[in-house]
Amino acid sequence: MSAAASGYRGETRPRWEDYSTCIHCGLCLNHCPTYRLLGVEMDSPRGRIHQMILVDEGRLKLGESFVRHIDLCLDCRACETACPSGVEYGKLVEAARAQIERNYRRPLFSRLLRWIGYRQLLPHPERLAFAGRLLRFYQRSGLQKVAQASGLWRLFGKLGEAEKLLPPLDDNFFFSELGRVFPAEGERRARVAFFAGCIAQAAFAELNRATIRVLQKNGCEVVVPVGQLCCGALHVHAGLRDLAQRLARTNLEAFLGEKPALRSPEGVGGFDAIITNAAGCGSTLKEYEQLFSDDSAHAVRAREFAHKVRDVTEFLAELGLLVPSPARRDEGQPLRVTYQDSCHLVHGQKIRSAPRELLRRIPGLELVEMKLADHCCGSAGVYNLTEPDVARELLKEKMECARATGAAVIATANPGCLLQLRAGVQRHGTNQEVLHVIELLDRAYK
Ligand code: SF4
Ligand code: SF4
Repeated sequence: MSAAASGYRGETRPRWEDYSTCIHCGLCLNHCPTYRLLGVEMDSPRGRIHQMILVDEGRLKLGESFVRHIDLCLDCRACETACPSGVEYGKLVEAARAQIERNYRRPLFSRLLRWIGYRQLLPHPERLAFAGRLLRFYQRSGLQKVAQASGLWRLFGKLGEAEKLLPPLDDNFFFSELGRVFPAEGERRARVAFFAGCIAQAAFAELNRATIRVLQKNGCEVVVPVGQLCCGALHVHAGLRDLAQRLARTNLEAFLGEKPALRSPEGVGGFDAIITNAAGCGSTLKEYEQLFSDDSAHAVRAREFAHKVRDVTEFLAELGLLVPSPARRDEGQPLRVTYQDSCHLVHGQKIRSAPRELLRRIPGLELVEMKLADHCCGSAGVYNLTEPDVARELLKEKMECARATGAAVIATANPGCLLQLRAGVQRHGTNQEVLHVIELLDRAYK
């Protein structure tokens, strides 16, 4: 009897070398948010790996059921941290999604949204800026209040949920800072390049500026290379590897190439590090070499690039933070802060202590740990838009943990988590402020 044909086609697919390391022990199960919530083996890491194997062996169709269970995965990689066998689950699920993208036809509306979001918006800064200006007009003209009060958005299902997550857009987008060089304050300790993000340039422009100020305070000259684009993280997570590679190639050129904006007395490039304040982007930027595993021409530069990438908290902890002045709310009252780990910082990049170390060094700040701090808040890239029901349940548990600490501030290290947690504060009325670690440092320096 001949073996059934694999359900996978093309190069990028879950590989036997990766999935065969799973010994089916189940130690990851209780660390998996979807398994804990749904209680279904098929929505656990072990169950999903098993389904990937069945598809590869031709014993399960790459069809609706498989797609549903893979879609429900947050790609939070908590299972990687828990796994005693070193299974690189992130690689597996991203390869499975690349197969789905190639071999499965999603419903028309879903294809349309993916085409607009991933292909027509994220890779194009000028279109993002235009969309940002439209949204800002919507928010400031009073239209948003009218639309929300009328309940109009309820007619739009998931899009209506997405509208609730919109951050108030900043006055000055960050796009205008591309190509600038910001001098170090005091003696120069390092020369770094700043990765500005895509949506973040409209929605988190002030966070980007705060990051540059904190770096300058710590003796860093900061260059913002012109020509940089979206990192491709959302594309990798969605299985759009070709597009992610295209974006990555542009970024390699922008950060390692011979652009005039990068020239300095030391010559072209010459950065000590490439800095990001977004854990999700950082995780993908550090894995650029993996993205070019089938393209040796770019793999070498991708390795050079990836070795330089640092999350801003990681970089400052390594460099040695210059201690800011006291940050007190009231006389003698320390500012109580709890920290929510971003999945792609703690599980993707294995950075747990650096952000906590920085927070502890802010005088007058008391860090209190929350339960389940390293469990996903439900943000997970665009998961809170595509799977709002599961995301809402995860957020509910997160807000209960955050509230129980009595902290006035929830700190985190990823813009996506900031949006989700801010929505959580509103929905659950916890009356807490949600800030990036860098924003707390920036305030302390002021
Ligand atoms: S990545 Fe997260 S949601 Fe997906 S299987 Fe692993 S722990 Fe579960
Ligand atoms: S992924 Fe790791 S922890 Fe989970 S069942 Fe497989 S070997 Fe065990």
